[in-house]
Amino acid sequence: MLIKEIKELKNLVKSWKKEGFSIGFVPTMGALHEGHQSLIKKAVEENDKVIVSVFVNPTQFGPNEDYDSYPRDIKKDLELCMMVGANVVFNPEPNEMYFNNRSTSISVSKLTSVLCGAKRPGHFDGVCLVVSKLLNIVTPDKAYFGQKDAQQVAVIKRMVRDLNIDVDIIACPIIREEDGLAKSSRNTYLSVEERKAASVLSRSLNIAKNLLNKGERSASKIKEIMMEEINKEPLAKIDYVEIVDNESLENVEIIEKNILIPIAVYIGKTRLIDNFIFEIYTY
Ligand code: AMP
Repeated sequence: MLIKEIKELKNLVKSWKKEGFSIGFVPTMGALHEGHQSLIKKAVEENDKVIVSVFVNPTQFGPNEDYDSYPRDIKKDLELCMMVGANVVFNPEPNEMYFNNRSTSISVSKLTSVLCGAKRPGHFDGVCLVVSKLLNIVTPDKAYFGQKDAQQVAVIKRMVRDLNIDVDIIACPIIREEDGLAKSSRNTYLSVEERKAASVLSRSLNIAKNLLNKGERSASKIKEIMMEEINKEPLAKIDYVEIVDNESLENVEIIEKNILIPIAVYIGKTRLIDNFIFEIYTY
């Protein structure tokens, strides 16, 4: 079922809650692929009812970013959602979600001043605003996010904790193409040549994984080898390659606890992100 109005969705949620149904929620910007579907499938497994939002959120795009050209196909998205068992697709227009004279912002400090936050000013304020609004509208028991956007997961978890929002945030694994490229709505921007070149992101992360498994613990050494690999690809331009603490997102030099290796690389004009979590088990 497609719902476009907040009021209608709230009424439906109220009636479900009266009947004691648990609710799972998957926020997306549409142009859905198997990555999104894996989140929806998990939500279907774990909840009585599942709501997927499809909303290209204007407040999280910078002035020179791809808000206007972002791929939109609500008919196909609705089909893909129903195929994996979602109950509702919530697809509001921007003027349904945002008042012209809105004056509230939500800003998570520290975690958003690094990585993508440093490169995309205001991006996470927009993400936090829309996610908090959606969580208030849907009031789900559980909300599902992809580990592909690792910084987003860390920021949303922090916001939910700090604001006492009553929801479990579930992080789901990255779904990849056969050559390792993380599935992304933005992959459709890539030309055939760029698509081939884009496998350099996951390749460089695999190199890091192998080095870590062999016992390498110097972050700068690992970053250097990763950057060397990416720089071999003529169509690739590094935005960042970092090794950070998985929760605080602070830089790490000697790797002795769980870390995140997030990378952002331009392939032609398209900026792609990927990451890898390395867990150190202490017995
Ligand atoms: P987006 O539509 O790009 O805003 O993504 C909506 C949700 O799907 C976010 O939580 C993303 O992290 C997640 N997602 C996107 N791509 C993937 C992927 N390849 N694997 C797993 N989750 C993904």
